[in-house]
Amino acid sequence: MPLYEFRCQECRTAFEELVAASQGTEKVVCPQCGSKMVKKIISAGSFRIAGSGGAIPSGALSGCSSKSGFS
Ligand SMILES: [Zn+2]
Repeated sequence: MPLYEFRCQECRTAFEELVAASQGTEKVVCPQCGSKMVKKIISAGSFRIAGSGGAIPSGALSGCSSKSGFS
């Protein structure tokens, strides 16, 4: 069973829940307030790396075309 991350839209509580594929995420309720207004969070490390913006080396952006202007 995959472990999903959820965040309650009511009380902003983040929690993890094991959800079976047949069960679906519709029945997941917030353990804090019992609200059904929970949103599944896609927790992938690649998203955080891409979102940081600092992973791209400067050499990749400054190609031959930009360097030709200085020569
Ligand atoms: Zn809640």
